[in-house]
Amino acid sequence: MPRKPGEKLNLQEKKERVKLYNKGRPLRHKIYATARWKALRAVKLASSPLCEECARQGRITAAELVDHIIPIAEGGPPFAFGNLQSLCNACHNRKHAQEGGG
Ligand SMILES: [Zn+2]
Repeated sequence: MPRKPGEKLNLQEKKERVKLYNKGRPLRHKIYATARWKALRAVKLASSPLCEECARQGRITAAELVDHIIPIAEGGPPFAFGNLQSLCNACHNRKHAQEGGG
């Protein structure tokens, strides 16, 4: 039977599309889903519970997330402890606004 326009995609076609979509996604999205990253992130936040950027400016702010100093997209090592910094949301957003995302 020929397909009619607007007919729903069957499951196999949907799977293929998801596969293609994931193939095109950058590696860094996968790193954040790994147990290794979650463990490393927890260790980093435990050892640096304050925002490191705020600390450089003399402010004391609780860190909310762990950031890669050299972004993974620019070749930074994703699991190197020395490439991590604890940041608050405001500092993280500021940094990534300047870098243009990532
Ligand atoms: Zn901060």
